[in-house]
Amino acid sequence: MDCLFCKIVDGTIPAKIVKKSELFTAFNDITPQAPTHILIIPNKHFTNMAEVANSDPALAGEIFRAAGEIASENGLESYRMNVNTGAAAGQSVFHAHLHLLAGRSFAWPPG
Ligand code: 5GP
Ligand code: ZN
Repeated sequence: MDCLFCKIVDGTIPAKIVKKSELFTAFNDITPQAPTHILIIPNKHFTNMAEVANSDPALAGEIFRAAGEIASENGLESYRMNVNTGAAAGQSVFHAHLHLLAGRSFAWPPG
């Protein structure tokens, strides 16, 4: 399958890896929207996080657990986790991922 994030998982495409396990890979976003912008993705291909949660709830939990752990390891007390699902909501890569954003203030609701 021709998937950008599968290639980051297998190392074919380089990325600044923050943390990696048998289940997930975390790496810096190439176009950061905040001083800290890390993507946490399952190593196995799913189209979006809802599909992960439906097929493997424990894996969905592990992605969120890992995000919290990475935030804690980076001394982040406040951060935003963002999951864009579907093109109209801003999803541009159709391999499930969670955005971990921190280091600036975030308006809510988003514009
Ligand atoms: P989405 O828009 O699907 O929620 O998020 C996809 C994210 O992947 C975007 O924030 C985008 O900047 C990031 N991205 C796209 N291509 C690459 C790449 O080749 N390397 C890395 N590290 N991030 C990428
Ligand atoms: Zn993939």
